[in-house]
Amino acid sequence: MEKKFAILGDIHANIEALAAVIEDARALSVTDFVCVGDVVGYNASPRECVDIIRGLCSITVRGNHDHYCAYPESLDDFHPLAASVIEWTRRQLPEEHLNWLQDLKMQAVAPGFMLVHSTLDMPERWGYVFDTLEAEAHLSYQNMALCFHGHTHVPIVFEKQGVVVRTEPVNTNIQIGRKYFINTGSVGQPRDGDPRSSYCIYHPKVREIEFRRVAYDIESAQARIRAAKLPERLAQRLALGR
Ligand code: ZN
Repeated sequence: MEKKFAILGDIHANIEALAAVIEDARALSVTDFVCVGDVVGYNASPRECVDIIRGLCSITVRGNHDHYCAYPESLDDFHPLAASVIEWTRRQLPEEHLNWLQDLKMQAVAPGFMLVHSTLDMPERWGYVFDTLEAEAHLSYQNMALCFHGHTHVPIVFEKQGVVVRTEPVNTNIQIGRKYFINTGSVGQPRDGDPRSSYCIYHPKVREIEFRRVAYDIESAQARIRAAKLPERLAQRLALGR
């Protein structure tokens, strides 16, 4: 059967967004799901999202929120908003779920591409790649032609052509001989001003990557945040896509 991958990332415990994305991908005949990490954090359905992702995705790599929810390490490097939800999430997850998060690998090789949450060089530093300079540094560590990542919650394609790195508009064709470092955007907390969920579909046979935006029930996700007494700001930002 011809493979078609959905690459999901930064789900952040948003079950309404995750359900909408899965429905969209299934309608487009996706055969395989993989995940670039941050299954939990920020939103109010961590247990449900872990249950779905571990059953659905053939590969999931570890995000920084997954790491800090699973291990009782200091949260000094986190924004207080994020840290408060990580502490809350630690209390929500049964041991079985924490163990699954603890066992996630920092990076992984899938058929024809790589997955990492942040960067391939020292992924445990959780560095952010926002611009072409940062992407160029990263691409020198990337051995395979195609690598998907997350972490910034902003969908973008960095394409290395000779020594020049340029950003591509969404929906791109993979050119043989070039290298791509592609951010899938965020399923559960988009930050590019568009509140709809973001993910990618990779169709290896035609070497095409499609960026998808999917509307979901934001009000229900906000209601869960409020019911869980998580910070109100986290509910508001979902509607803004920030
Ligand atoms: Zn994230």
